[in-house]
Order: sequence, then structure tokens, then C-alpha cells
Amino acid sequence: MVSPGDPTRLTHSLSWFPVRSNQYIMGISNCVFCKINAGDLPADRLFEDELILCFLDVAPINPGHAVIIPKEHHTSLTTVPEPTLARIFQLAPKIVQAAVRATDADGFNLHLANGQCAGQAVPHVHLHLIPRSPTDGFSWDWRSRSQTYESDPSEIADKIIARMHKNQQQ
Ligand SMILES: [Zn+2]
Repeated sequence: MVSPGDPTRLTHSLSWFPVRSNQYIMGISNCVFCKINAGDLPADRLFEDELILCFLDVAPINPGHAVIIPKEHHTSLTTVPEPTLARIFQLAPKIVQAAVRATDADGFNLHLANGQCAGQAVPHVHLHLIPRSPTDGFSWDWRSRSQTYESDPSEIADKIIARMHKNQQQ
């Protein structure tokens, strides 16, 4: 008997997937990462267990660039169950370290885009594992932004903390 909370449940089996909305169904049937997970699309798989799958990015920034996804379809990191989150971040350093060594890189970036405005191209949560080297010619551009606050940053800190408390009570 498989319960809804059982991490071994198959995400591509609609018959016992907890359907919450039409969007959820759309996510499963049209999602490229769900198709990879189901074996309907090819991928160079590096690791998988009952909760997560890791495979090489098809459009890598550098050789060895991979993504880790939860097997269960989630658009946002904020809805991924904690055991799955823990597994993603337990495995990320191990896999990316292996990728760095296998490709003679020197360091790495972990990158997760949440939301279209943040650059999320596939609406299924994915953590990028990107080996880096000093000569790879790639750079993040946030240093070009002004890193100053127009108003008191402690006001923003207070708002965030208040929201965290509110979320905890919900
Ligand atoms: Zn998906």
C-alpha cells in the first residue's frame, strides 16, 4: 500500500498522484523534466534515488554542468517537501565536486532560478551544478548593480522577519 506521503511513489503515474489542480496535471504531462524522469526523453543521468534525479544540462555553461531535480513535479522551491530539499542539498556538493574533478575545473556555482522573472526556463524546480574555471569566460553580472539601499535596510529586514513569523503560523 502506497500512501500519498510515500517518497517512492512515481510522479508519472497519474492514477495515484495527488491531483490538486489542472495546472498540476499540465505540469506532469507537458513538463520536459517530468518526461526525462519518466524515461520518455533521453538524458545523461548522473544519479538518482527515490526522491531526486541528476542529469547533465543539455545547454551547459561548462562541461559537466548538471541539474538536480525533485522527481515530484514542483514549479517552486517553496513547495518541495523538506526530505527532498535535504536530499538535493546533501547530494549537490558531492556531485558537483565529482564534476569539478572530472572536468579539471577549479570551483563551482550552484544556481537556482525560481520564477520566470528570475530566469527559470523550465517550470520544474532544478538546481544547477556548474563547474567553473578562471578561464571559462563566464561571469555573473550582479556586481554591476549598485549594492546600496535607498532606504534603511533594517526596515526590510524587519518586514522579512515578520513575514517569516507569519508563514510559520500558517
Ligand atoms: Zn515536471
